[in-house]
Amino acid sequence: MKLLILYTGGTIGMVAQRDGSLVPFHADALRANVPDLVRLKAEVEYRSLGQPKDSSDMGPEDWTAMADALWAAREEFDGFVVLHGTDTMAYSASALSFMLGGAFGKPVVLTGSQVPLGVLRSDGRDNLLTSLEIVMLQGDHGGPLLREVAVFFDNRLFRGNRVYKHSARQFDAFHSPNYPELGRSGVDLVLHRKRLWSPDLTQGRRTALNPNVAVATLSPGMTEASLRAMLLGSGAEGVILHTLGSGNAPSWPWLAGLLREAHDAGVALAHVSQCRAASSGPSNYATGKVLQASGVWESGGMILEAAVVKMMLVLALPTAKRAAAWTASWSGERD
Ligand code: ASP
Repeated sequence: MKLLILYTGGTIGMVAQRDGSLVPFHADALRANVPDLVRLKAEVEYRSLGQPKDSSDMGPEDWTAMADALWAAREEFDGFVVLHGTDTMAYSASALSFMLGGAFGKPVVLTGSQVPLGVLRSDGRDNLLTSLEIVMLQGDHGGPLLREVAVFFDNRLFRGNRVYKHSARQFDAFHSPNYPELGRSGVDLVLHRKRLWSPDLTQGRRTALNPNVAVATLSPGMTEASLRAMLLGSGAEGVILHTLGSGNAPSWPWLAGLLREAHDAGVALAHVSQCRAASSGPSNYATGKVLQASGVWESGGMILEAAVVKMMLVLALPTAKRAAAWTASWSGERD
């Protein structure tokens, strides 16, 4: 079995220099810091995706580069572990899940760490070694058990397009409030088969992105002028309205008219709740009805990070196809 570690940067890839300062490592340092790699019953190759980056600097071009690198290596390897910074790991995992499409059909696990690998107490070693073991797991029919893009962190495996980074302090950096964990590493490494995504192998890659997306957070007391500036004055072609509770918006008398104006101007509008554990389906509250009535798409349990990336991909589609594409589940990202 052949596995690829694709290193993109982030805290995990840091080692201390003599003077104590942290710098990104190279392949030799990986083996030196995780000597147990040689005990895996697999051939492990390591590749770097250009210059290592802090993931706060990652965006659509990096997602494309990652997806291209994984596709180029698809035939050669049986499983893939992407080492990535935690700050935008949720965005990259969502992007890869959409961009690789069902046809990729092989396990991709993103992981990283809160403490650099070069530090004794690093959580990176376990995260890396267990991620490699996960991509090695075999299903009943000889192929890989996991055939989706996942995030492994602090002993838990999640669907990649369902997570958000919830902590910059604890080892359990990621939560998946609207979809249960796919698996857990304890004494045994257990994956819940029924929760795993069965890819449609005929679903091809998505490559075209339009990054012109903004997020507008609705907050009490917001003025019409500031929301108008975001919806109509920013040039954004798609806006995610960050709404309240189970997909509600304040009963501002001007809101419906403004949303309609933006909609008629061709701005794609969707809403995701500020409440992480929520499904922004059709709201039962009067305060949510204005969104439905104004042509704002509901997001059915999609997490903000996945919604931002999906909007970029949806904007690359012809206008007539966008609403249906938003409402469809591409890679298990929504209910
Ligand atoms: N700023 C770092 C990054 O996202 C944090 C981390 O990796 O944990 O690249």
